[in-house]
Amino acid sequence: MSQGTLFIVSAPSGAGKTSLVRALLERLDGIEVSVSHTTRPKRPGEVDGVNYHFVDVPAFEAMIERGDFVEHARVFDNYYGTSRPAVQARLAAGQDVILEIDWQGARQVREQFPEAQSVFILPPSRAALEARLTGRGTDDAEVIARRMRDAISEMSHYDEYDHVIINDDFAVALDELCALVLTSRTRLARVRAGQAALIEALLSQDHGVE
Ligand code: 5GP
Repeated sequence: MSQGTLFIVSAPSGAGKTSLVRALLERLDGIEVSVSHTTRPKRPGEVDGVNYHFVDVPAFEAMIERGDFVEHARVFDNYYGTSRPAVQARLAAGQDVILEIDWQGARQVREQFPEAQSVFILPPSRAALEARLTGRGTDDAEVIARRMRDAISEMSHYDEYDHVIINDDFAVALDELCALVLTSRTRLARVRAGQAALIEALLSQDHGVE
């Protein structure tokens, strides 16, 4: 059995990361998103165990102490972390795993998984980003200004990633993301490990002829 590939996907809020990842999962088999733990309050419509595992600060700190996280970070006032056992079990079973995490988590993951493929998603323009962050016009100017500052701060790390996808045309961005996942499955080490029997049969000089 070959190990799956770990993908790190980061983006500023408003770049369409979650929609792209959701569409990728609908299109491809053999790939899953890791559900992170967080201490931030649940938003309307979010489901515990689906969007995040929602935990309180003491529970999160206990997980840090036990070494339960592959990475964890404080992102805009809350803690977020990726469960180590869940990720390792899936990779070992040959599943590809996506981590939707910020740049701080990405740095920690790269150190432990040098083979991980990292992707940064950028919005197509400043105006598009502003429009997405402004929402339905119900938030006050200060909240919007803060979101913009946070987005710029996240985007300033785009050049730490192996790949950059500009989410202008959604269908094109999705094709690019899918291509990345599919290409990773053709890597020599992975095919060699996962298709050992086929390769042995193909290369055998035993023609079955007397
Ligand atoms: P949100 O609270 O809007 O769902 O996510 C806020 C930010 O936290 C996003 O940039 C998201 O990528 C990041 N994030 C979500 N889960 C994790 C995680 O497990 N680890 C890290 N480092 N960042 C995360």
